[in-house]
Amino acid sequence: MSVSNQSLNVLNASVHIDGKTLLDDVSIQVNPGEVVTVLGPNGAGKSTLLKVISGERKPTTGEVLLNGRSDWPLSQQALMMGVLPQSSSLSFPFTVEEVVLLGRIPCTSDHQENLDIVSKALKEVDGFHLKDRQYTTLSGGEKQRVHMARVLSQIWTESELGKRYLLLDEPTSALDPAHQQLTLKMARKQADQGMGVLVILHDLNLAARYSDRLVILKEGAIAAQGTPAEALTRETVDAIFDIDVTIAEHPVYQCPLVINN
Ligand code: ADP
Ligand code: MG
Repeated sequence: MSVSNQSLNVLNASVHIDGKTLLDDVSIQVNPGEVVTVLGPNGAGKSTLLKVISGERKPTTGEVLLNGRSDWPLSQQALMMGVLPQSSSLSFPFTVEEVVLLGRIPCTSDHQENLDIVSKALKEVDGFHLKDRQYTTLSGGEKQRVHMARVLSQIWTESELGKRYLLLDEPTSALDPAHQQLTLKMARKQADQGMGVLVILHDLNLAARYSDRLVILKEGAIAAQGTPAEALTRETVDAIFDIDVTIAEHPVYQCPLVINN
């Protein structure tokens, strides 16, 4: 692992709370152009890791370097890092457009440019048709896509400060299969266009299909990592997730296919 001023690095991060270890000496790197997926059972520490990266939670030991620095002012970090938390609540009577526009608050563009970006971000998540709806009347999956557009709009334009990173905590949890795929395709596209993407998922096949690398957490520690083919072996899946699977070659794509037995 080579720390550079063009990568996102977690260095030996541990989180201990009340004698409990939430994160145990975790180091990961996300490079621009990559989709890195974090997997692991409920309670494995995935959201804790994401909160450590975003700065919401300070690690007990270890540090996070965003493009080589751990001390960015929040206003500057916001231009390089967009974070979709596991749940976002909002009960104000905002329209969808107004919610997505919140993502543009850290940015200096004029109002018309902000509105253009909001429209483009909504199109990325198949949400443009929702633009004038009241946010509170949306379905769970529609709300999730609107928050995704908000986060995308925040880091829509390149920053002179450094490379951009998109952090997504279970972005597909409320989505139907078509929108799950759309979301991962969108994440892949952002990476192909130069962002670094870190995404937390539960679906092993979505992870295998769209990720460059997987990091699998168990009880706060990294239990397996590597390319999807390296990380998703029958033994690993059994040991970490306690499910009996067959790992096959995907008939269409160059990635493993996980079949529940
Ligand atoms: P997940 O992998 O499901 O996202 P989390 O990172 O949210 O897991 O949580 C990891 C573990 O830490 C869980 O067992 C959770 O109950 C526990 N935990 C999370 N936040 C706290 C806290 N503030 N105090 C004590 N335990 C916590
Ligand atoms: Mg979580």
